[in-house]
Amino acid sequence: MERFDVIVIGGGPAGLMAAGRAGAKGERVLLVEKNQSLGEKLLLAGRRRCNITNAEPDLEAFIERYGQNGRFLYSAFSRFGPAETLTFFNQIGIPTVTERGGRVFPTEGGGQRVLDMLLLQCKKYGVHILRSSPIRALKFRDGRVERLISALEELEAERYIIATGGKSYPKTGSTGDGYRFAAQAGHTIEEPTPALVPVKTHETWVKLARGFNLRNVRLTVTVDGRKTDERFGEMEFTNFGVSGPIVMDLSAQVPDWMKQGVLRFHLDLKPALDMETLKRRVAQDFEKHKDRLFAGALRNLVPGPLIPLILELSDVPSDKPASYVSTEEKAALAALLKDIPLTINGLWSFNHAIVTRGGVSLKEVDPATMRSKLCDNLYFAGEVLDLNGPSGGFNLQVCWSTGWVAGEA
Ligand SMILES: Cc1cc2nc3c(=O)[nH]c(=O)nc-3n(C[C@H](O)[C@H](O)[C@H](O)COP(=O)(O)OP(=O)(O)OC[C@H]3O[C@@H](n4cnc5c(N)ncnc54)[C@H](O)[C@@H]3O)c2cc1C
Repeated sequence: MERFDVIVIGGGPAGLMAAGRAGAKGERVLLVEKNQSLGEKLLLAGRRRCNITNAEPDLEAFIERYGQNGRFLYSAFSRFGPAETLTFFNQIGIPTVTERGGRVFPTEGGGQRVLDMLLLQCKKYGVHILRSSPIRALKFRDGRVERLISALEELEAERYIIATGGKSYPKTGSTGDGYRFAAQAGHTIEEPTPALVPVKTHETWVKLARGFNLRNVRLTVTVDGRKTDERFGEMEFTNFGVSGPIVMDLSAQVPDWMKQGVLRFHLDLKPALDMETLKRRVAQDFEKHKDRLFAGALRNLVPGPLIPLILELSDVPSDKPASYVSTEEKAALAALLKDIPLTINGLWSFNHAIVTRGGVSLKEVDPATMRSKLCDNLYFAGEVLDLNGPSGGFNLQVCWSTGWVAGEA
């Protein structure tokens, strides 16, 4: 049996970075991937354009985007953070461009270019790659990983890096195997839940406006009536609930909030107008269109695709002449436009989640090396760790930084 210095399990962005870095340090490296092709999820990233990182210049602000667990990243980011990542990609032949919200993309070629260049790095440093080889289990001896059991053979190395990803988009190969391996080594696994995922609502009328993209709206989150969060931006209705950037960014906390009480999102369609201004605006519109019916008078107040939904939620019959709509009814309409309540009753499944929240507990991993504190020849990199951020390049940055640090160590 051929023996390696390092075996990396998983050929996603974290595994590719770790393998390339360990190879660059002169180690004999084997990268084992269960699929025939590597980086399947990386190819999907950023609608195939691959949002590799974020241009947020302040490291503190960058780290804050990961919530409490972000503190774990200080050490890795101080050695290979967003700035070093950009330099790395530029040096391996991937010039980048920064777009809205600080999103950084390759100027051309998208995820395919990123994958090709990472594979080229691995080749340059003599990394062996074994495809179509799912690792089934780890074998331990004296508190260390002794070998790996794959479908076809047993594999041995001095050190092992688990970079098998989370549980989201399982069709790309990330089926949570790394959690099982880490648990075998005695690690605590923080419950994996879908994140950056659409949200389900109790209200079924959402489907009346499904697919319609709302811009410049505000979502206020309440738990048992208490305000807990607020977002401003884009969202959309789906067949079973709501989705879009602001909803996806809130989704990671939904399981926690649901444990605390009744979770509601309150949609404000007119965040730029306070209630009194909106009431005046509604009154003006109804005066201007007094020869129309209620449904017709709404046309200047809300986009067309939302009108069926407003009619469903309003007590005013759609065919009531606008001139007969009372002051109270107009006030109720203004209140509705400022607060459409959505009762949240769950998340879509891992099949639709961009990332996984939860994973290998950070308490049991050394942040400077990604080495297990329980098993001294075992390391972790990427989404298998209990780290997740919002959309905008933050999740791939975790892979580059933790992959580089694990490979370096
Ligand atoms: C549609 C979509 C779009 C996204 N867009 C972006 C974006 O633009 N920017 C961003 O920052 N993030 C994005 N993400 C998130 C980002 O892609 C992931 O966080 C990232 O791919 C995680 O990398 P990883 O290397 O940790 O794991 P993965 O990419 O999941 O790779 C893990 C690899 O391990 C292999 N593997 C698993 N189990 C085994 C086993 N037992 N034996 C051998 N191999 C195994 C898998 O087949 C897979 O190849 C997106 C995610 C999705 C689903």
